[in-house]
Amino acid sequence: MDADVIVIGAGAAGLAAARSIGPRTLRVLVLEARDRIGGRVLQHRVTRIATPAELGAEFIHGPAERTKALLREAGGAAIDMGGDSWIGESGELQRNDDNFSSSARIFGGSRSLPSDESVERFLKRFEDDDALRETARAARAFVEGFEAADPQVASAQAIADEWESGADSTSARPLGGYGPLFELLRNDCEAAGVCFAFSTRVRRISWHRDGVAVDVSSLGESKTLRARAAIVTLPVGVLRHRGDEAEISFEPKLPAAKREALAHIEMGHVVKVALWFRTSFWERVGRGRYHNAAFFHIDGQPIPTYWTQLPVRSELIVAWVGGPGAVALYGLSQAELVEMALLGFGQLLGEVELARGEFEGGLTHDWSGDPLARGAYSYVAVGGGNARAALAAPVGESLFFAGEATSSDGQGGTVNGAIETGERAAAQAVAALGVKGIA
Ligand SMILES: Cc1cc2nc3c(=O)[nH]c(=O)nc-3n(C[C@H](O)[C@H](O)[C@H](O)COP(=O)(O)OP(=O)(O)OC[C@H]3O[C@@H](n4cnc5c(N)ncnc54)[C@H](O)[C@@H]3O)c2cc1C
Repeated sequence: MDADVIVIGAGAAGLAAARSIGPRTLRVLVLEARDRIGGRVLQHRVTRIATPAELGAEFIHGPAERTKALLREAGGAAIDMGGDSWIGESGELQRNDDNFSSSARIFGGSRSLPSDESVERFLKRFEDDDALRETARAARAFVEGFEAADPQVASAQAIADEWESGADSTSARPLGGYGPLFELLRNDCEAAGVCFAFSTRVRRISWHRDGVAVDVSSLGESKTLRARAAIVTLPVGVLRHRGDEAEISFEPKLPAAKREALAHIEMGHVVKVALWFRTSFWERVGRGRYHNAAFFHIDGQPIPTYWTQLPVRSELIVAWVGGPGAVALYGLSQAELVEMALLGFGQLLGEVELARGEFEGGLTHDWSGDPLARGAYSYVAVGGGNARAALAAPVGESLFFAGEATSSDGQGGTVNGAIETGERAAAQAVAALGVKGIA
């Protein structure tokens, strides 16, 4: 046996799982294909700029108690965002502080339908409704921009359920970014004797009643590692990928209920570009009207949403498009996306030349093309009502599942959801090993 528990993936879920098993007498081994921790949390530090560019997760959504507690342990804090929102057309932005996520309440009506419908189909019924047409339009934009989902595929009932179960889009940020929280998780793991194997790609998981054998390739070498249990935290995009070569296979195949669940959870797509400038020049544009701007949204642009780092004043702007708008940008190079974001930001301010003159650099990460993610975060497809819970269910006493997609209490797609699922799967694994007299 190479370990009692093998944890596959060193993102939020994997680190949280390993950390909560670590202090016990069990031997824990974390296998990670990248050469770093964090998974879909990835910072880029620009010298001189106060805030890191978060190329993956950036905000803390909803109450997120576990994240906030860990931040406190790491000596950090969550800070509320505040600031103004501006929306509209080029050079003519208007203040609009409506919480656009409140439009998602419209999906509550889908619960009384005889069967689930796609977001697209559900919202179509409001096209001729003068009172609700605008709410329906905002709800569609919310599904694309916030859930990163394709309205033709996303389940209206799943969105209603997630909102009913207490998810909300009130947002805070970890002061100084997510880095310190992830370092805390890693340091606690190491202090508890958890071993990490980086640049170690899992290819096959063979599972049976008493344990698992995990085939990995690491720096050109293949080997098989054995443990009494495995916690799989792989992104759904990786688990589902079939292409030329599947990333992962299970032996025997996963049970039908698990495969069915995977078929109903999709990866949402996002293009997120960080831009940094010589000064925060937008604060001076229009005689300072955008001095307290947090969000900008401009309709009809390939990249429609931009945000500042308020309440921290910084020279960093983040550009964002989610859902089909992000898919439409597939194939563009990093340089083309940075140029598109810079132009879009200049245009929304009506200050293209000023933006160019102030521009220092930009960066993006291609999450959809990243073979270790294959998308940004998950959403539930039509008819996938309990797919997240089914994906979370253990298989026998040796195979456990965690990761944002397995979060079934409205926190799918978030860091906090991933952390909680890691801790849940760790408790399940420990209990199962206890049954076998190991814990
Ligand atoms: C652009 C973007 C913006 C986001 N914004 C936010 C936000 O503001 N707030 C928020 O809460 N969430 C946000 N998210 C979502 C959040 O990042 C994820 O929900 C969370 O980080 C997922 O954690 P995880 O542990 O489930 O998965 P991951 O972080 O993906 O961890 C899985 C790990 O498995 C590894 N792996 C993959 N394949 C293999 C293999 N074959 N062998 C070994 N290891 C493998 C991966 O490298 C990865 O490290 C965002 C995501 C993206 C991409």
